[in-house]
Amino acid sequence: MRTLAVVGGGAVGLAVAWRAAEAGWTVTIYDPEPARGASYVAGGMLAPLSEGWPGEERVLAFGSAALDEWPAFAASMQKISGETMFVADETLTVALDGADAEDLRTVSDWLAGFGHDLRVLDRAGVRALEPALARTVRAGLHAKTEPAIDNRRVLRALQKACAGIEIRTETVVALDDLPHNRIVLAAGARSAELWPGLPVRPVKGEILRLRHRPGVSPAPTRVIRARVHGRQVYFVPRADGIVVGATQYEAGFDTTVTVGGVRDLIADAETILPGIAEYELAEANAGSRPATPDNLPLLGHLDDRVIAATGHGRNGMLTLALTAALIPALLDGETPEAAEVAAPQRFPALSQGGVR
Ligand SMILES: Cc1cc2nc3c(=O)[nH]c(=O)nc-3n(C[C@H](O)[C@H](O)[C@H](O)COP(=O)(O)OP(=O)(O)OC[C@H]3O[C@@H](n4cnc5c(N)ncnc54)[C@H](O)[C@@H]3O)c2cc1C
Repeated sequence: MRTLAVVGGGAVGLAVAWRAAEAGWTVTIYDPEPARGASYVAGGMLAPLSEGWPGEERVLAFGSAALDEWPAFAASMQKISGETMFVADETLTVALDGADAEDLRTVSDWLAGFGHDLRVLDRAGVRALEPALARTVRAGLHAKTEPAIDNRRVLRALQKACAGIEIRTETVVALDDLPHNRIVLAAGARSAELWPGLPVRPVKGEILRLRHRPGVSPAPTRVIRARVHGRQVYFVPRADGIVVGATQYEAGFDTTVTVGGVRDLIADAETILPGIAEYELAEANAGSRPATPDNLPLLGHLDDRVIAATGHGRNGMLTLALTAALIPALLDGETPEAAEVAAPQRFPALSQGGVR
């Protein structure tokens, strides 16, 4: 019998456990609080193009490959849960000033070199697409192929997909204590606690969930992204309203929602979408993005028994779909080409058989 422990039951751990069980592994998931973590608070943008910037070509290629996996991945989850995963089909990144408008042109030109056709829109073009946006918005970048998913629907679907898998609501203290043939380390931002030296650190993010109220102007139907006072703000549609994200700090393991974080998010959101003030503030959450130094995940062998599936950073919902395909292949001894760029051994500290 091929036994597998999956340490961490966030979106990554659940998706890997599901696919590994389908591939014939007898799987046990360990997590004191499954389906919460960063995966529960995320915005749900699948945005490898709009988040791209010259110099980040490998991140773009990996993210684009992950986006290509999403339609089939979402369809298989929909079959299990009965819910649609997608909540938007497109993304519009907007600029308030000349410098930001110039950045949109830079990204558009750079992406064109990789065959991605994103149009830069003027003020009138932006208003024609999303009339609820502030009149101060002066340009936009329209990504017609960048959708968004509802992360909580994804988690519900993954939990159903894992219904036949043993889930132990325990914190793993040492991987050596686990009796399984193989182990997948999917403990998100806490992964380095179980494999010291692993280059994964928490990056704090606060995020709001706003509920639509009767009589209030409807939320945009696309993902809207912007920069206000140098801070990122984005809006991701939901069936009952909109998600507004997200702050970003190097704050260690801190998932406290601060007054300052909420104040900045609301102020920045109102600058882009003035009607937002009429919505109900339904939730304010914070989570820890499992970040790596080069913004690519860590997918691959740490030793003969342990495989990393972590370090998904700010794009874990996006890259989840590809991770779920690659880890079972790695478990079966294959070396899929798409996983090469995410191999842990790209970091010298991990290249000589680990640093434990
Ligand atoms: C505010 C915010 C907004 C985001 N928005 C987006 C977005 O729009 N698009 C996108 O693609 N990504 C987004 N992300 C990133 C995304 O949420 C993460 O990359 C992704 O959820 C990581 O999934 P995970 O399963 O690795 O981690 P998690 O969901 O954090 O799960 C890790 C799990 O491991 C468990 N665990 C930890 N230690 C142990 C242990 N010792 N033993 C057992 N279990 C353990 C935890 O309990 C937890 O359940 C966002 C993140 C944040 C914080």
